[in-house]
Amino acid sequence: MKSIFIAVSLILIFSSCRVEEANIPNINVEEDFVPYVNAFIEEGAKRGHEIDFEDTGLTIVFGNIPTASASCSEIAGPNGGSHQIIVNKNAWEALNDTLRERLIFHELGHCELGRIHKNDKFSDGSWRSIMRGDPLSQVDERLPVPYFGFRRDYYIDELFNDNTPSPGWASYNFDYNDLETAALNTLISRSNLEKLSDTINLALENYELEFEVKTISGEEATWLAWGTEAKHYFFWLRENEFHFAANSNFQGPFHFIESETLDFRERQKITIRQHGALCKVFINEKFFFAVDRLPSDLFFIMSSTENEILIESFRLSEIID
Ligand SMILES: [Zn+2]
Repeated sequence: MKSIFIAVSLILIFSSCRVEEANIPNINVEEDFVPYVNAFIEEGAKRGHEIDFEDTGLTIVFGNIPTASASCSEIAGPNGGSHQIIVNKNAWEALNDTLRERLIFHELGHCELGRIHKNDKFSDGSWRSIMRGDPLSQVDERLPVPYFGFRRDYYIDELFNDNTPSPGWASYNFDYNDLETAALNTLISRSNLEKLSDTINLALENYELEFEVKTISGEEATWLAWGTEAKHYFFWLRENEFHFAANSNFQGPFHFIESETLDFRERQKITIRQHGALCKVFINEKFFFAVDRLPSDLFFIMSSTENEILIESFRLSEIID
């Protein structure tokens, strides 16, 4: 598929020099975007959509759009339209591979699939579509689409068919007491620390991290991270905000809540449990969110600088089935 697309692009680019512009749609995709356009064609083909841009043309270039990561427009052409996507270079450079794909897929969703913005959410608070977009409230603006890991396939299905049924993960609701017969073997236990910094020389398949924490820095966000240098998760807290994320080269931002009932200036209990296929997050023993397993490896646990957070208690346990 990749080579077909490149071949078509080249033919059209060369053709446009010779043939009257009015009859041949222009294909002008800057090199940075070619892999994502090819991925879009491939994902469409898997879902029964034959996509080529011969009829419409396709332009994706870097340009100056100060207020957004990218914009897309249709310029009237001989066959009804010509897809024009402009990408903000600074915004692009700040994105990891997955987020770049999501951006290009979103813009092609507009241009090629005729999708408009869809701002519906599942009952777990996640967006239903990568076509979420303006107008968004300030709070929603900060809630990313969890387009990665085991969720990615659903979002691509939905992109190509907006009647795709809700995925199983949208109604996950795990019980804090779901360990059943598994035992917890405590490896590290700490209390009343303003900073956490531990490295564990163990490849842990299944584990649980439990923190009782509160913020002490007022306005500043404080964070706790664990995993390996290449792949780690972290959450950060500020007053009544809880964010869950992975490092940018791994998966990026995930989930965000601003809750009237949570106040991190008071002690709250956060449990991270990697057991089986998932890594589950509980707040005050209530299920909050599930993410992909972190690869088992030597890992670290760290918090932000002193005077920002008080770790009233921390426990790392191995889960033994
Ligand atoms: Zn959009």
